[in-house]
Amino acid sequence: VTAEKNEKDISEKKKLSEPAVFVPVDRSPEVQEARLKLPILAEEQVIMEAVRENPCTVICGETGSGKTTQVPQFLYEAGYASSSGTIGITEPRRVAAVSMSHRVAKEMNLPTRVVSYQIRYEGNVTSDTKIKFMTDGVLLKEIQKDFLLQKYSVIIIDEAHERSVYTDILIGLLSRIVPLRNKKGMPMKLMVMSATLRVEDFTENQKLFRNPPPVVKVDARQFPVTVHFNKRTPLEDYTGEAFHKTCKIHRMLPPGGILVFLTGQAEVHGLCRRLRKAFPYRRGNTAEREDGDTADDMKKFKKTKHKETVSLPRIDLDNYSALPLDEGDEDREAGIGDEEDGDSDLDLGDDPVGTEDKCDPSIPLYVLPLYSLLAPDQQAKVFRPPPPGTRLCVVATNVAETSLTIPGIKYVVDCGRVKKRFYDRVTGVSSFKVTWTSQASANQRAGRAGRTEPGHCYRLYSSAVFGDFSLFSEAEITRRPVEDLVLQMKDLNIDKVINFPFPTPPSFEALVAAEELLISLGALEEPPRSGRVKEMQQARLSCPITPLGRAMASFPVSPRYAKMLSLGKQQDCLPYVIAVVAAMTVRELFEDLDRPAGSEDESSKLAQRRARLTQMRRLWAGQGASLLLGDLMVMLGAVGACEFAGCSPKFCEDNGLRYKAMVEIRRLRGQLTNAVNAVCPEIVLAGLGDHLARRVQEEELLDPKWKNGYKTPLLDDPVFIHPSSALFKKLPEFVVYQEITETSKMYMRGVSAVEAEWVPQLLPQYCHFGAPLESPLPWFCSSSGTVRCHCPSTFFRVGWQLPAVEM
Ligand code: ADP
Ligand code: MG
Repeated sequence: VTAEKNEKDISEKKKLSEPAVFVPVDRSPEVQEARLKLPILAEEQVIMEAVRENPCTVICGETGSGKTTQVPQFLYEAGYASSSGTIGITEPRRVAAVSMSHRVAKEMNLPTRVVSYQIRYEGNVTSDTKIKFMTDGVLLKEIQKDFLLQKYSVIIIDEAHERSVYTDILIGLLSRIVPLRNKKGMPMKLMVMSATLRVEDFTENQKLFRNPPPVVKVDARQFPVTVHFNKRTPLEDYTGEAFHKTCKIHRMLPPGGILVFLTGQAEVHGLCRRLRKAFPYRRGNTAEREDGDTADDMKKFKKTKHKETVSLPRIDLDNYSALPLDEGDEDREAGIGDEEDGDSDLDLGDDPVGTEDKCDPSIPLYVLPLYSLLAPDQQAKVFRPPPPGTRLCVVATNVAETSLTIPGIKYVVDCGRVKKRFYDRVTGVSSFKVTWTSQASANQRAGRAGRTEPGHCYRLYSSAVFGDFSLFSEAEITRRPVEDLVLQMKDLNIDKVINFPFPTPPSFEALVAAEELLISLGALEEPPRSGRVKEMQQARLSCPITPLGRAMASFPVSPRYAKMLSLGKQQDCLPYVIAVVAAMTVRELFEDLDRPAGSEDESSKLAQRRARLTQMRRLWAGQGASLLLGDLMVMLGAVGACEFAGCSPKFCEDNGLRYKAMVEIRRLRGQLTNAVNAVCPEIVLAGLGDHLARRVQEEELLDPKWKNGYKTPLLDDPVFIHPSSALFKKLPEFVVYQEITETSKMYMRGVSAVEAEWVPQLLPQYCHFGAPLESPLPWFCSSSGTVRCHCPSTFFRVGWQLPAVEM
């Protein structure tokens, strides 16, 4: 009986989770052929079975094996998008979301209104969308609106190995959403896809998944990659080094694409320019150049004599499939390779293909940049074969490491660095810094060279340096200040951060301390101090965010400093607060007393210098308010004086300030000022929330005395924007004011415009959330997302559409 019951249970379970229909896809023969070569196709059955039988499935496969492009198609064909909802795929990088949606649309022969993407400021999603690529931030925002994600039948978290904070939070949230959906009879599937093999944080985390999800491994065809290390490791000019290495590869080695890894957009463009100059390419017979070239380049290019283009022998992919595939273990290859190239002479003679068919140095290099913010049509170029008679050279940032696989790459040049976000321990100011990558990343990069035939990876650093790399990159969540993280999560309406199932959790004590700090800063609502002690303690760990907290969350600094910034705004001393925050981030403003100046470090000179610098510090400390207000004011004084003097090296030298520090402070001030300006009106609204006023619309005008008048919560009569205000003629619908003065009329002074959408976010107490009003009034958008806004004394209402789902 039990067996029978079990079988019945299982078949019922299946009915629930198994879509009945098979949806045919009309692919072109070329696409079909290319697909069949992808390793993941061999695993379709296994994957779909795992998905059918489990709420969550993990797929682990080498980059380029076809995870991102094929798995959504498997699901689509199996009917997961037919009636039950959309298939959603998240990517940590925008470039991947856009590019993959285009690719999948093309492979499936479907329009982009069916296979679509949504990233922060743009997208092409329609009501017909069945497969939706998006950034992880976009999905987080959607969860804020609809916790059950009812419009999705499957969510795929792609590139989970990157361990971005958003990806980690998403996995935590979805580990709860999926069972909830299944309980409610609206089945939903979760898939986690990852490139490298460290998935234990997801699968062996009891808090995350009670039953460990099955892991489907996809073995990719990988050819051996010989790794060459540099003897020396250039500390500064690695782009110059990359340039020389690329030139040598192009001059000396047989055909095959070159992929260069650098760290950022500026570097990528710089190297592209240099390479294009060295090996010019022209399209057809016209002297038309690739994008991004200067007029200067053009002139030089026109002078270059151009030889007839030579067509290179085509690489026959099929001939190589006979090679043993198990030689492709990247880690092993990278470990054994350990060849050190002389810096002066690149020993490229060991190429397995032989040196007799060296590339003709006059062959043009078809140089393409690739980075996250590159326009989609420019990105798409890397996937097309290079023009005949040229060699492809892609200069890329980390996006080419696992997100995008470029066909035909045989040589990889790896600078060994990566641009990472760092958070200042004290101020929480985040900035990008170039740092060494991890061994896992370096091996991923090397692997890009062995996709279609044996390849070579040239590392611009020594094997000793490689040995010092960390094994894996840490999860971002562990590198981020905790109070910052808690505030961000509260902003996502995740109130019980303490109970959150993090794949890699921060320490409990740190989380508790962060909650307390945020309450004390006013970023979280102070819970009532009544009831049982235990309940009170519980309540203190699940406080919702306040309007001020939301404003603070939008600053790129720690909550403590965000609070200073928002107060600074209200008190009209924002530039000073920004200067102090920037100075605190840089910290060492003054020359080190003990650092030897120059080379002649005789002890008498050192002593002199010491005495001089000590004197300087005393002078700085003795300035005006500093005596009273201490170190922060000393910093502020130094920043102000230095700025006044034009931030010159001489001024710094004369006054014992570190020039580098002052330049960095200047940069941070710019960055913070921009960030604050971007959210400023929201801050104003948070601070002056009770001073909200709404312009009475033409349609509402019952009495002419209200013309151009504003309604405030507390006054029965209209108030007006003071003629001295910059907004006097603009008359925005919503404003906040600093004060009201009465002369001939009641005038608002210190007026700032606010966007209608901010009101329900920051001043929910003034809003009613509910079904659309039936009022046919013209200013009322009767969509499902309408909000009524009223003031406590006199009711007035307004409707608007909530902003599109965006991060
Ligand atoms: P994975 O996600 O496992 O890293 P992908 O699904 O991204 O693998 O890639 C599978 C294959 O599809 C790769 O060989 C890649 O080169 C190819 N590919 C991906 N996008 C494009 C595109 N826009 N044009 C041509 N080929 C592409
Ligand atoms: Mg992928």
